[in-house]
Amino acid sequence: MTLRFTGVLSLCLVSGLNAQIGTMTGYSRERARDEQQIEQRLRAIPSPEEEKRQHRYFTAEPHPAGSERNHELALYIADLWKQQGLEDVRIHRYDVLTSLPRSISVEMVAPSAFRASLREDPYDADPDTKNPAIRAGWLSMSASGEVTAPVVYAHSGNPADYDVLRRYGVSVKGKIVLVRYSNPYSYRGFKALTAQREGAAGLLIYSDPAEDGYKRGKVFPDGPWGPESHIQRGAITYDFLVPGDPLTPGWASVDGARRIPVEQAVSVPKIMAVAMSWRDAKPLLERMDGPVAPQSWQGGLPIQYRVGGNRVRVHLKVDMDTRPMPNYVVEARIRGSELPDEWILLGNHRDGWEFGAVDPSSGTASMVELTRALGQMKAQGFRPKRTLIVASWDGEEVGLTGSTEWGEEFADELKQKLVAYLNVDWSVSGPNFHPSAIGSLAPLLVELSREIPAPSGKSLYDEWRKSAEAGRMEAKDPRPVSDDNLVETRIGSGSDFTVFLNFLCRPTVELEFDGPYGVYHSAYDNFFWMNHFGDPGYRYHTLMSQLWGSLALRLAGAEILPFDFAAYGRDIGSFASRLAGNPRVDFQPLQQKIIEFRNAGSELNSAVARALEKGPLDARLGERVNRNIMQVELNWANPDGIPGRPWFKHTLYAARYTYGHLELPGLTEAIEKRDFTEAQRQAGILTSALARNAALLRETRALLP
Ligand SMILES: [Zn+2]
Repeated sequence: MTLRFTGVLSLCLVSGLNAQIGTMTGYSRERARDEQQIEQRLRAIPSPEEEKRQHRYFTAEPHPAGSERNHELALYIADLWKQQGLEDVRIHRYDVLTSLPRSISVEMVAPSAFRASLREDPYDADPDTKNPAIRAGWLSMSASGEVTAPVVYAHSGNPADYDVLRRYGVSVKGKIVLVRYSNPYSYRGFKALTAQREGAAGLLIYSDPAEDGYKRGKVFPDGPWGPESHIQRGAITYDFLVPGDPLTPGWASVDGARRIPVEQAVSVPKIMAVAMSWRDAKPLLERMDGPVAPQSWQGGLPIQYRVGGNRVRVHLKVDMDTRPMPNYVVEARIRGSELPDEWILLGNHRDGWEFGAVDPSSGTASMVELTRALGQMKAQGFRPKRTLIVASWDGEEVGLTGSTEWGEEFADELKQKLVAYLNVDWSVSGPNFHPSAIGSLAPLLVELSREIPAPSGKSLYDEWRKSAEAGRMEAKDPRPVSDDNLVETRIGSGSDFTVFLNFLCRPTVELEFDGPYGVYHSAYDNFFWMNHFGDPGYRYHTLMSQLWGSLALRLAGAEILPFDFAAYGRDIGSFASRLAGNPRVDFQPLQQKIIEFRNAGSELNSAVARALEKGPLDARLGERVNRNIMQVELNWANPDGIPGRPWFKHTLYAARYTYGHLELPGLTEAIEKRDFTEAQRQAGILTSALARNAALLRETRALLP
């Protein structure tokens, strides 16, 4: 998944606590008491010892997508879910374009000879670092080939960096570009596309100690930051254009499906790219000629960074094994007792770069410990009102592949039945809670967090507020922390929620605990790291099982689904207000409809509260109200998608090519391109969607007494 850095915080100004209904939104007082007991029973089951035992199993061997080990883990999870008492356990196979490395070399041929090791050092303290199955540094979906060319240092490899190089008179055409991972953060696939567009012959991406190494603090095995040889692997797939199998864009790669020729696949990179440690990059950087790079380009190494372009020449050779390989998605469910065709989906990806202790195996451990708890409750006679589905995705790291193919395969059913998708990519890299959600589900997270005890003995809510305050202080974010802005409601991409939110237009939530984490996608993201730095004692893994399960049960049991459209309206208002200053676009009708939608949401909140105050709701009435509530998110869909990216159907959310969040994508991108005719058209599409939803909310409100 995407690595987030402190400092990338929401600037969202508004959103509000929804109307308090008794003590539990969406429940009458009578039902709330039962629900509270059910959730407490669930939370009593997960144990740190079991979390640790499962985590050790998932992190025992490297398990990237397409590897035999990752297939074994799929079979293990399927068996486990059967033993735990889950129903309808299935393994779906999708043959998707994947790449594993055959051989990769980076050799400096001038001014002196040096061969990059592309390897990570073993440490006696941690036997896993000596595992012979650890692969050398590589980037999935890199092109294969060979070139000898001069090297240019291009800072973070974003378009603005190449503009700076042009001012220096340095061209990268036919050359090898050396860039660092972050500052500001951008997805490595975007760096690859940018280098490809600039005509570079190859791309080397290294981890500078300023971002995730010794400049941040103690390094592995003495601390959580990356040591000199750590390598951030990853994919460079252009999945910001269309995720999933590049050969089946927009439909599922099931047996017999049509597949386009690879030359036509827009998400397949055409440039060679390799990931490196700073130790391997330093001999190149310190020999560079040319002008001294700007101050902001200077990194954490004790050298003067120059832009290069002549003196240092590198021989780069990449040989990838790229072909359709099987991805295995494991699925199971507990069928709902009353509303089996309303689904709450919980998912986590299983594939990792090497051991993947944080990303994703912490989430996998939390998931199977949660399913153990659900299975145990089922054995004691409990069955949720709505159906719970759990999924172990594959190929997330390659292009969000498994979840995308599954979502595309079951698209029609999911649009009808999916109440919400609850994603946990990694569960823990530290103790700081960082959830994100669409605006209508944010208040539910705040409400629930008050009821859940955290490891400190305080509530999760108290810990969350405290860490949010510290985070904003560090990021010099002047906004005071409040219940209205605790949840990140601006959602980019970089994990498995993408197909559900952006393609199927279903509500999504993502849960995550974060902390200092400098070994992302390296061989040091392993069991030792987790036990010494990430979550010694596995208390936050356990908390994630408890929280994820409570949230799923809260949604599964609700009489009226706890969505807050007034909060959603306030969010949409804040998205629009950032664009509204532009005099070339008439925002008046759009803003009018946002207010209408928000007001209709407030009125619905009050009507729901009044109805539930009188006692349990008539089940048939509840069903009609909930059908409408489930329709709201679908109404944001534009069947044509956003301009240039037809796969992205949602009109409120998309991701930038960097994976960064992008609100009101059609309108925002048109304004950024200064295409005001298109912007006006996009504003019109949003206005119609808001009108549809305001009417739907008013109609729903009228159903209630
Ligand atoms: Zn991940």
